[in-house]
Amino acid sequence: MESTIHRAGKSAYVIIGPEGATNFSIVKGAGGAAVLIDADIRRIDEVEEALKLTGCAEVKYLINTHEHFDHTSGNHYFRQRGIPIVASAGCVGAMRNEGGPDFERMMKPVLELYERFPGLSLTLADVVFSDRTTVTLPGVTLQLEYRAENGHSHSKGDTTIYFEEEEIFIAGDLLYTEVHPVTFFGNIPNWLTALKPLFQTHYKQLVPGHGPAVDGEQAGRGYFQKMHDYLEDFYGNLEEIRSGRKSRDEVATHMLAGNYAGLGKTRMVERNINQFLTGKWY
Ligand SMILES: [Zn+2]
Repeated sequence: MESTIHRAGKSAYVIIGPEGATNFSIVKGAGGAAVLIDADIRRIDEVEEALKLTGCAEVKYLINTHEHFDHTSGNHYFRQRGIPIVASAGCVGAMRNEGGPDFERMMKPVLELYERFPGLSLTLADVVFSDRTTVTLPGVTLQLEYRAENGHSHSKGDTTIYFEEEEIFIAGDLLYTEVHPVTFFGNIPNWLTALKPLFQTHYKQLVPGHGPAVDGEQAGRGYFQKMHDYLEDFYGNLEEIRSGRKSRDEVATHMLAGNYAGLGKTRMVERNINQFLTGKWY
């Protein structure tokens, strides 16, 4: 399957990853300058193609919503082109302290990319903010807000972006729609807390880190609620495994049935549970 380009507004586009793969957003300013939000080096051709198709003449900033490889491995590519990279201090700190081994692990199946992009390496943002900041282009105001509750929710860098002029809210991986989330890098109780204020946010379009974009606040709140309930249920079930009241298979079966039966990326369920059982709790 191929990714699709979703038009989220007059000058905002989302590269929707196939089958719940990572979404990347493009916000275009007057004159064709663009802000790119997240980029994965493994899908750099798709990103370049989308920039071309949407008429973007140049990328002015790259923003990282958080530190995970599928959102930040394109940093080196854009740094080479002199493009400033914006991220939260939480994101940069996590990449500095823990990003190296993860980068190497993720690169193992795609070693040929080291030849295609000489010097390809973990690359940290150079424009760093703590709680909030604003990124602008002509006609574009993006409000960035750090949302990782106590420094750790889905990740340690979780940042949301609000495109003021067109009322588009980009939630990063705090929100997954129609697919099982990746929880194994996260702190689920903090993630649940981080979701609370998002129920009150205002937007016309809501863009998750993975899965289709959502039209309107009412539908958006429904998705935030689903995300919250999923995490609460899953966390409760992890506790049941920990206490011996449920087996790992019972929990896996539960997470794949009922309300969750239609969700994509089903392989994540086992990975999420296994990560918990091995005690490697980030
Ligand atoms: Zn992530």
